[in-house]
Amino acid sequence: MRIQRLKGLFWRRHYALLPFLFVTSLAQAHLDSAVPVLSFPDGGLTSVEFQQTIKTFESVFASYAARDNRIFEILSDWKTDWPQAFARRWETDHLVVYGGIARIPGSTVDSFALILCHEVGHLYGGEPFSDEHNRMAVEGQADYWATSECWEKIIHELPLREGSVQDRGVAAAIVVTAFFASNRNLPAPRVDTPDTTIVERINRTHPLPQCRLDTYLAGLELNERPLCWWAP
Ligand SMILES: [Zn+2]
Repeated sequence: MRIQRLKGLFWRRHYALLPFLFVTSLAQAHLDSAVPVLSFPDGGLTSVEFQQTIKTFESVFASYAARDNRIFEILSDWKTDWPQAFARRWETDHLVVYGGIARIPGSTVDSFALILCHEVGHLYGGEPFSDEHNRMAVEGQADYWATSECWEKIIHELPLREGSVQDRGVAAAIVVTAFFASNRNLPAPRVDTPDTTIVERINRTHPLPQCRLDTYLAGLELNERPLCWWAP
């Protein structure tokens, strides 16, 4: 049912989505990889892991939507290789998630969960907002909330893996930000090469991948938001 609904909205193939991308950007959706890369040789979840992770998120975050008498749902399409996910506040608070995002290089349930945490962060991560009307958090804030709030809530619901909550967060952030970097032809971010840029105004678009890794790490350590995108 869910997949049919999604396909009804978006047609079937990637290139048919291009006009839709334009429409969603006008509607303040948040597409989280600028350049589509359509096939990956390694990494990836099974469809069961994909669906289970989605169900976990729906149950954990239903209460967030319910505070405003709203519904939270995730519209997913496992078969589509488009490596994308985005959040919208329309008639429901929802995420749209394509299977390709669970097949990026090095993907694990944890890295997929971090991507979903980022998307949920657009809905419930608070200020600064990119859209005052929809109250959608900017990219940097969605990243920060993903590890400072969402991660702790979600990780105990995910399959057991080796490592502490923090170590698993770091590992997931490295996978996710390496993917962002590959989309921009940039070197993969590292934990020991933080972005030293200091912005004068809050960056309301996607920060560079190194800055995003720094933000994920700051969230895990409950440090302040990095100044590479955040301006107090
Ligand atoms: Zn985003």
